[in-house]
Amino acid sequence: MSTISVPQERKPRLTLVGAGPGDPDLITVKGSKALREATVILYDALVHPGIFEHTSPGAIKRFVGKRSGLHSYSQEEINEMIVRYALSYGKVVRLKGGDPFVFGRGYEEIAYAESFGIDTEVVPGVTSATALTALKKIPLTTRGLNESFWVLTGTTSEKKVSNDIFLAAQTKATAVILMGLKKLGEIVEIYREAGKAHLPVAVIVNGSLPNEAFITGTIADIEAAVRATCLSGPALIVIGEAVKLRLDLNRDTTAGETDVKGLFSELALP
Ligand code: SAH
Repeated sequence: MSTISVPQERKPRLTLVGAGPGDPDLITVKGSKALREATVILYDALVHPGIFEHTSPGAIKRFVGKRSGLHSYSQEEINEMIVRYALSYGKVVRLKGGDPFVFGRGYEEIAYAESFGIDTEVVPGVTSATALTALKKIPLTTRGLNESFWVLTGTTSEKKVSNDIFLAAQTKATAVILMGLKKLGEIVEIYREAGKAHLPVAVIVNGSLPNEAFITGTIADIEAAVRATCLSGPALIVIGEAVKLRLDLNRDTTAGETDVKGLFSELALP
């Protein structure tokens, strides 16, 4: 009986790597090492091009994300590409924004590859949920103020506002809402109905990137403030008393209930 031996570098392998929240320096050392060793890199829209400084010049790079006007790949197509590239070229890195297991569908990709007998590994990433707030000096938890923070999606797979937001609005938890900008109106309504119109809110658009925009206000006025800016891009909505603790806000203003005027000076649009 003959056996076929595959050279080690051609052995099919999938490494799912978290690219971090935007700033290419926020990839982990381990993630950057995996990029250097990759033969093929399949990357998403939220991945900053600067991250490719970490790759080997011969690596095949394929964009498989969603970008308006361009063909976007379905999850099934991406799963199949991962398997095809791994079987043909060996080391595939699947590079995803933030952490691949936070609203990243990373598990589905790993499970699919493993069903073909492909070895897999996950390199965690710095998630936007905790990194962008930290960069803005917003503490997600503060002794005496709250006991948890919730990371929620604003939009469910049925394109509806998540039920969990109704639950979060009943608590003192800091709510970090991803994929929620288009649902901001519905989200503030939920908090208003829970009697939280005064609650501080921050919206971070294109966080950690040169075109970052940062808007703060309260449940009562944040929607108008955001609408006035006509912002687009990935956005994080942060709701809770913790937003008021932001250090530079306290320095600049008296941390009043409505801070919308002060906010506009903070906008750093491209
Ligand atoms: N796995 C990613 C999240 C993917 S879902 C992570 O861990 O960060 C995509 C959502 O993440 C976006 O719609 C937005 O809500 C948030 N997001 C990711 N990068 C962002 C950025 N640079 N600025 C603002 N929000 C961001």
